[in-house]
Amino acid sequence: MAAEQLLKNDRRGAMLGFEDDPRAAVMPATAPRPADDGRTDLRRIRVEDKRVINGGTDVNQLVPFKYRWAWEKYLAACANHWMPQEINMSRDIALWRDPDGLTGDERRVVKRNLGFFVTADSLAANNIVLGTYRHITAPECRQYLLRQAFEEAIHTHAYQYIVESLGLDEGEVFNAYHEIPSIRAKDEFLIPFIDTLTDPGFRTGTAEADQRLLKSLIVFACLMEGLFFYVGFAQILALGRQNKMTGAAEQYQYILRDESMHCNFGIDLINQIKLENPHLWTQEFREEVAELFRKAVELEYRYAEDTMPRGVLGLNAPMFKEYLRYVANRRCQQIGVEQQYPGAGNPFPWMSEMIDLKKERNFFETRVIEYQTGGALSWD
Ligand code: FE
Repeated sequence: MAAEQLLKNDRRGAMLGFEDDPRAAVMPATAPRPADDGRTDLRRIRVEDKRVINGGTDVNQLVPFKYRWAWEKYLAACANHWMPQEINMSRDIALWRDPDGLTGDERRVVKRNLGFFVTADSLAANNIVLGTYRHITAPECRQYLLRQAFEEAIHTHAYQYIVESLGLDEGEVFNAYHEIPSIRAKDEFLIPFIDTLTDPGFRTGTAEADQRLLKSLIVFACLMEGLFFYVGFAQILALGRQNKMTGAAEQYQYILRDESMHCNFGIDLINQIKLENPHLWTQEFREEVAELFRKAVELEYRYAEDTMPRGVLGLNAPMFKEYLRYVANRRCQQIGVEQQYPGAGNPFPWMSEMIDLKKERNFFETRVIEYQTGGALSWD
């Protein structure tokens, strides 16, 4: 059961001792060796010594930078900071309370949607904090992961804020991930890959272990954050485009922007590991990855059918089949795996516009908020 597994992960985290894991080193393992003239500069980290995985003994030296793409994503993510309670939910509350405000199918979409998301970002946070972070040895990447972990907390906060604002049955929504089969199936697909990274006994450093890590990173970035979120995002944003649930839709829009960067960071991370460890990227491995993509598309399509058994909001499940194939092709292309659905088109071109949101442009025009400082970067 997904819930039991989450608890297990939490217990593992509590028991976890970093001291037994050389990959999670917090201090240099080797003492500085003085040079002949007494200098201790032999301890200094050289750019060329840095590695994304299996990077040796010192994970504390952010500079000299080697992985600038990670540092720049960290800066961009900070510039995009937002908090859920800044968004006014009064129109959503009025609409939800109005018996004629939304159809039964629209209400089902909202509830099923939150049923997946209220626990999904918690899974994501556990995966980063208890898993991924320990195995990544590049300080620039760890810096981004720390920011990402906080964003997962903000997303869980946002979903809770929507549930509370609308006065939904919290027990029903927060338990959906083990009571609704289409949601549980997605989590059960993910959990073995999260388990790999959060297992205190797991070590990188052999080709077999490094492939397991890489596969988990691919599942997490490309299939969880990069695919499993997209039916839900499209549904709530479609409501917003029809001027319904605009507060919830605005929050989802900010979450989509964050998640889009999480996915892109994960893809950069995967490609950097490939570059530094080309022996991991075998034909057999690529075929296993392709099979996971096909399985994930199937699960997400089943979820789409379950959330909208009839057409709703001008959307229907078959449109999502095409959309998911289109998104999966894009993810495959981004990590260098053969596209699994040649010719799939994008039935929701407006989603790209949502993803490309800039801070200063607010689609729903309900609020403008500016965290970005003068020197901040844009992130497309
Ligand atoms: Fe995420």
